[in-house]
Amino acid sequence: MIFVDKTQVIIHAGDGGDGFSSFRHEKFIDRGGPDGGDGGSGGDVIFMASRNQNTLANFRFQKELKAESGSRGSRSKKHGKSGVDLIAHVPVGTAVLDGDGKLLADLVNDGQQSIIAKGGNGGFGNAHFISSVRQAPRIAEKGEEGEQFMASLELKMIADVGLVGLPNAGKSTLLSVISHARPEIADYPFTTLTPNLGVVDIGKEDSLLFADIPGLIEGAASGKGLGDEFLRHIERTSVLVHMIDVYEKDIVKSYKIIQNELKNYRVNLTKLPQIIALNKAEGLGEDDTDDLIQSIKEVVPKKTEILAVSAKSGQGVDELIRRVNTIVKAEKLKTKRLKSKNKAEVMPILRLTNMDDGWEVSKQPGLFLVTGKKIERFAKRTDFSSPEGVQRLKDIMKKMGITHELARQGAKHGTKIIIAKDRQLRY
Ligand code: GDP
Ligand code: MG
Repeated sequence: MIFVDKTQVIIHAGDGGDGFSSFRHEKFIDRGGPDGGDGGSGGDVIFMASRNQNTLANFRFQKELKAESGSRGSRSKKHGKSGVDLIAHVPVGTAVLDGDGKLLADLVNDGQQSIIAKGGNGGFGNAHFISSVRQAPRIAEKGEEGEQFMASLELKMIADVGLVGLPNAGKSTLLSVISHARPEIADYPFTTLTPNLGVVDIGKEDSLLFADIPGLIEGAASGKGLGDEFLRHIERTSVLVHMIDVYEKDIVKSYKIIQNELKNYRVNLTKLPQIIALNKAEGLGEDDTDDLIQSIKEVVPKKTEILAVSAKSGQGVDELIRRVNTIVKAEKLKTKRLKSKNKAEVMPILRLTNMDDGWEVSKQPGLFLVTGKKIERFAKRTDFSSPEGVQRLKDIMKKMGITHELARQGAKHGTKIIIAKDRQLRY
C-alpha cells in the first residue's frame, strides 16, 4: 500500500560572514598595510536518508531548516569561523523538490546525503586587495547570502500491514495502542477519507507501517462505500490483520463478509497472508476463547494464524506483532529475491552553483535594472556603504561590458541602477 506523505519546509543555508577592513598597527608608522581577514563561509543545508526515520512528521513542527552563518573576519588577517552545516535526517525514500516541483534529490539509500542549499561564501577582507594599484584599500566585501527557498518533501510510504475488519472491530484502538508515530497524510489522493497510519517499532532498529483501512464495508469491492479506493492499495501490503469483535453475534459470518469483499476485488486479496485477531477477548474465559478460535478455524485456510487479543488490555498484542513481523520479513525477502535482477537505480543529484557570465540591462522609468548571475553575486558581496567597495563593483561592471550597455541605453551620471533586486548604485 503506498501513501504519499508531503510537507513543505523553508530551507535556509548560512550566510557568508563579512570580510573585515583594518590596517596593521606598527610602531612609528602611521598606518600599516591592510590586514582585514575574510569572512567564514555559511553552513550548507544537507539532507541525509536515515533508516531510523519513518515519517516526515518532524518537519510539520520544524518548519525552517537553517544552517549557521559564517562569522566576520577580523584584524591580523584572521578568517571568520565557518558556519556549521545543518544535517536534516529524513526517511529513506524521501524526495526533495524545489518550489517549481523540480527534483533536487532522491534519497533512496540509508546514509545517502545531498547538499540541498549551499551556504554563502565569506566576503574578502581588505587584506585580500593589496595590489600595486590600491595601496591602502578600505574595501571589504559583504558575505554572500546562503541559498534560501521553499522546498517540498515527499515520502512514498508503503504500508507493510493492512488492518481490515468490520466497523467497531477495534482497528483504530489497536493502532493507537501499538504505534509511536501517527503520520498524517496531506493531499491523500484517493478519497476524502484518510487511512490511519501507525508506525510500530520492532526492537530498536526496525519498524512496520500499519494502515487501518476505514470504510471497508459490505459491498465495498463493487464500489459501494469508500473501501474500494483503499482496496486498490492493499494489494501491496505483506500481510493483513483481520480483526473480529468477539461480541459479534456470529463471528463466522463477520469473517465471511470481509473475506468476500477481499475476494471479489479485481485482484483476489484473500491470497495475501492473513492473521485473524479475535479482539476484545480480555473478558473471556479460556473455554469460550477456545470455542471461538475453533469455530473460525473451520472456515479459514489451513495455515491462517488465529489469535485472541485485546486492544484495550494489551493481552496478546505483543504476540500478534511478533507474528506479523515474521510474515512481513518473509514476504519482503521473497520480493527482494524477485527484484534483485532489476536493481533500483540510485540517483544522487547535486546542485552546482554555476557562474553564469550572462547579464541583461533593462530600462525602467527613472532607473535601470541589471540582472545576471555573476553580476548579482558580486553586487550581493559589495558593501554599499564603502565608496571603495562600490567603485570595485563599478570596475567589474565596466569589465563585463555592462557600463557600456547602460550608456548606450541612455544612462547618465547619477542615474539610478538596481542590481540583484535591491542593491542600488548611481551611474
Ligand atoms: P474500528 O471501527 O474497527 O476502528 O473500532 P474502534 O477501534 O473504533 O473500536 C470500537 C469500539 O470497541 C470502541 O468503543 C472501543 O473502545 C472498543 N474496543 C476496542 N478494542 C477493544 C477491546 O480490546 N476490548 C473492549 N472491551 N473494547 C474494545
Ligand atoms: Mg476506526
